[in-house]
Amino acid sequence: MIKGVDIGGTFVKVAYEDGKKKKFFIGDVKNSKRKLLERLKEIILDDKPSGVGIAVAGFISKDGTITRSPNLPVLDGVNPREIFKVPKIVVDNDVNMAGYCEWKLHNSGSEVLLAIILGTGLGSGLVINGEVFRGAGGSALELGHHIIEKGGRPCSCGRRGCWEAYCSSYGIVNIYRDLGGSASKDIEIIWKARSGDERALETIKIFKEYLLIGLANAVHILNPDTLVLGGGLIEGMKDFLYDIEGKLKSRVESLPASVLKVRFSVEKEFAGAVGALLYLRAVIRKEENRML
Ligand SMILES: [Zn+2]
Repeated sequence: MIKGVDIGGTFVKVAYEDGKKKKFFIGDVKNSKRKLLERLKEIILDDKPSGVGIAVAGFISKDGTITRSPNLPVLDGVNPREIFKVPKIVVDNDVNMAGYCEWKLHNSGSEVLLAIILGTGLGSGLVINGEVFRGAGGSALELGHHIIEKGGRPCSCGRRGCWEAYCSSYGIVNIYRDLGGSASKDIEIIWKARSGDERALETIKIFKEYLLIGLANAVHILNPDTLVLGGGLIEGMKDFLYDIEGKLKSRVESLPASVLKVRFSVEKEFAGAVGALLYLRAVIRKEENRML
């Protein structure tokens, strides 16, 4: 039995081979390394799996070490392969795995698929002809930290003016606050905008402008044929993004625009866990073929 496990800041999502999916709350132990690892062991080792694909938000080196996870800093430096005694473990960035999932299940003809996931932060993943592009050290596609405003808003990474500082849950809350509004959650602003609140509507307009700037940069650099948008923030405001493909195409050169399709994530919040399961399966198959 193999499974895919997506370790997030508040929940662990698990995808099983038979198609079942489960969500476990870990928010109560996220600040204690010992307690968190104990809980993760229970979840991961349950059913004695022969293989586990693990997806984690953050920087993952090619040997599987979580070098920096802003959502779960107690896991910094941890290598799940050394901690969980399972015969086969692969570890990767959560958005890499979400991108792989969307490619494998919904766009396997795509040559260049770019996944952009907006929620607590802004993550991105690139799948080229079915292979996840990781860069030399494993940290490629940190588009959330490309600078779109010199000296701009503070970002969770400690820098200023990053795309994530505008296009994420906390980014949109900060835009709203700057306009004199008060909201603790992104969804409150979206509800207010739906009810016609002018400040909230202006916030969404500014947010969309930054979203389009970052997306146009990404399209000009990577020339994807498929751009998948997902994550809690995107899911919550799809009705405001109905025109995103047209708007984006009007801002980029005609050649990249001519091959580009934009769509929303199909697998939604389980994309990382399902992707990790599918990716693990592909790795195992490749190794079996090599042995034949
Ligand atoms: Zn940043």
